[in-house]
Amino acid sequence: ELGMPPVGGSVLLADPRGYCAGVDRAVITVEKALDLYGAPVYVRKQIVHNKHVVQNLAARGAIFVEELDEVPEGATVVFSAHGVSPAVHAQAAERNLKTIDATCPLVTKVHHEAKRFAREGRHILLIGHAGHEEVEGTAGEAPESITLVEHPDDVDSLEFPEGTQLSWLSQTTLSVDETMETVRRLREKFPHLEDPPSDDICYATQNRQVAVKEIAKEADLVIVVGSANSSNSVRLVEVALENGASASYRIDDVTEIDDAWLEGVEKVGVTSGASVPDDLVQDVLAYLAEHGHPDAAAVRTAEESLTFSLPPELRRDMKLAE
Ligand code: SF4
Repeated sequence: ELGMPPVGGSVLLADPRGYCAGVDRAVITVEKALDLYGAPVYVRKQIVHNKHVVQNLAARGAIFVEELDEVPEGATVVFSAHGVSPAVHAQAAERNLKTIDATCPLVTKVHHEAKRFAREGRHILLIGHAGHEEVEGTAGEAPESITLVEHPDDVDSLEFPEGTQLSWLSQTTLSVDETMETVRRLREKFPHLEDPPSDDICYATQNRQVAVKEIAKEADLVIVVGSANSSNSVRLVEVALENGASASYRIDDVTEIDDAWLEGVEKVGVTSGASVPDDLVQDVLAYLAEHGHPDAAAVRTAEESLTFSLPPELRRDMKLAE
């Protein structure tokens, strides 16, 4: 029958995919805070950019707010994995809030780099997306010393006074290839550009892009599980399309799969962003199995073993409660 997927189609499952160390830590931080202090616990912004994670934590008593003026004086608030600017810390102190900072240590590292470059009198070209929380937090460390560069083409219009010492930094969840293109063009225009001491695009972002490239070589269709505001998830779709997949779609969960995507498709690639619980991926695999793709094989391109300890302010309170 026309339109039916071929029987015995297969699935290539990217590995690594899903939760990174920073997301795991941030989600556990909210869970432990709820256990320890009881509901409600306030969280500034989505703790990680995933709809399901936020819904589950909200059901357990977390209250998500956009800004701190929505948090009652003296309450407990968790800062999300994406980081906050010094102005937000100051506002929390002013309002007497008890804060638990779930900023990913790899984001904090970029904050330190921004502070140091600014202290050294250097001007920073921050490669990233305007309006993303991580960029707002990082830029807030040295607002006068930072210019945002969103796209390789933005480089052409950049002008700085003679003698300006330039460095670059980036958001942690960008496309590695596009960022390298931006840096190439920056260096062409500003040959004395100084690099960051180490990669800002984090290990998890890099590893998930390497894995999706590998499956995109063979898969006709690549399904990426992740929310629309998840930068690293959206990048996975782009990377899949640039590396051989004829189609790639991002879905929040299995209910968003359109059967028409599977028509005539033999190999389906599946991956997920760094903020995505794996049960959402397992649902997708079960659906694919029922729709002509029963065999799933993992394509492993890296081993990940990094973990981060919980925020010290939370560990201290957990110890006191023992
Ligand atoms: Fe940290 Fe990278 Fe995960 Fe962001 S994606 S939370 S920077 S490990």
